[in-house]
Amino acid sequence: MNFSFYIPSIKERLEKLQSKIETASKKSGRNPKDITIVAVTKGFGPEIIEALLQLGIIHIGENRVQEARLKKQQVGEKGIWHFIGHLQKNKIKISSHLFDWIDSVDTLEDATLLSHFAQELGKTLKILVQVNVSGESTKFGTTPEQAESLCMSINSLPRLEILGLMTIAPFVEDPEKVRPVFSRLRMLRDKIESHNGVHLPVLSMGMSQDFEVAIEEGATMIRIGTFLLGPRKGSFLKIGETQTFL
Ligand SMILES: *Cc1c(COP(=O)(O)O)cnc(C)c1O
Repeated sequence: MNFSFYIPSIKERLEKLQSKIETASKKSGRNPKDITIVAVTKGFGPEIIEALLQLGIIHIGENRVQEARLKKQQVGEKGIWHFIGHLQKNKIKISSHLFDWIDSVDTLEDATLLSHFAQELGKTLKILVQVNVSGESTKFGTTPEQAESLCMSINSLPRLEILGLMTIAPFVEDPEKVRPVFSRLRMLRDKIESHNGVHLPVLSMGMSQDFEVAIEEGATMIRIGTFLLGPRKGSFLKIGETQTFL
């Protein structure tokens, strides 16, 4: 697979991203090393994932199971793969096989199935609970009220390691408007930790549009597509189609 062609332009964008991460971290008294970039590669071909891995970006985020499966066949057992999309019951088995992290768990039923399949595979899945902080009806995720009991139930399921919370903020022009969404996720995490004496170190929040505000509000993981890779052609890649990196 010829991916070296893509490296210089991704490297340039990555350096820009890293400098913005540094600025946002400094502004809020945080260490930029505490922020993990998950490169969201939906819509892009496996050669882009190879280029990212080459540049030291090992966390790869995908939101379609079939698309991830095809790309993983090409890339092989490299990188740490995150599922960031909506889980469908009939794809939970293959998801537990393909991914290292499931960042979008929002029901106990799904978690129970993931635990079952992880046991079969003899692997441990890292889990984030997706919370619909803004209450938008178009968004998946558990309610903030139910997040605590879901986290604690997951904590008791075999072969699942609950590591924290994830949210998707509403899309707005001015990212300042979604600052409260991020701070509420952080406070929710803090509350669950102190009530139960559990450690939930990960807050996955912030995308290309709003990652700086998310970092200022405590994000430890940001999910970045467009800022690193440019615009996607469509919302997802059709089977057999690959998008050429711009
Ligand atoms: C697509 C997607 C992203 C990345 O979006 P960009 O705006 O391109 O950075 C992050 N998180 C989730 C859940 C996504 O589906």
